Amino acid sequence: MAVDPNAPYDPDNIFARILRGEIPVVKVYEDEYALAFPDIAPQARIHVLIIPRGSYICATDFGERASEAEQAGLSRAIAHVATRLGVTGSGYRVISNTGADAGQEVAHYHLHLLAGEPLGTKLI
Ligand code: C5P
Repeated sequence: MAVDPNAPYDPDNIFARILRGEIPVVKVYEDEYALAFPDIAPQARIHVLIIPRGSYICATDFGERASEAEQAGLSRAIAHVATRLGVTGSGYRVISNTGADAGQEVAHYHLHLLAGEPLGTKLI
C-alpha cells in the first residue's frame, strides 16, 4: 500500500526496524546521520538505499523538519556511498519517491542510488 505522507510516522516500518538492528542488512555505509544498504529487489546492477537515522516519512517531512546537520549529513552520505561503490566516475542516479503518485512503499524517507550500467536518459 502506498505511503500517506500525512500519516504519523510508524516506528515499526521496515527501515526503522533495520535502523534498530532488528532486521540484518549488509551495510554499504553508515555514520551518525545515515545508513546505506542494498535494495532487496535491485532495479539496476547496483541499487543501494540510503536512509537518514532520524524518523522522517518522506522528502517533504525531511526537508521541513530535519536539522541542517541531518540534511547535510544525508547529502554527504550520498557522496560517501558513491565513492565507496566506485561509481563517481561512471555515474549514478539518486531518486526519492514521495507519496502515492510516486509509488512510495516504505514510510521512512529513503534515497535510491542506482548505478553500475547505463541508466538511460529518462527518469521514468
Ligand atoms: O521508494 P519506495 O518506497 O517504493 O521503495 C522501497 C524500496 O525498499 C523498494 O525498492 C524495495 O525493494 C526496498 N525494500 C528493501 N528491503 C525491504 C523492504 C523494501 O530493500 N526489507
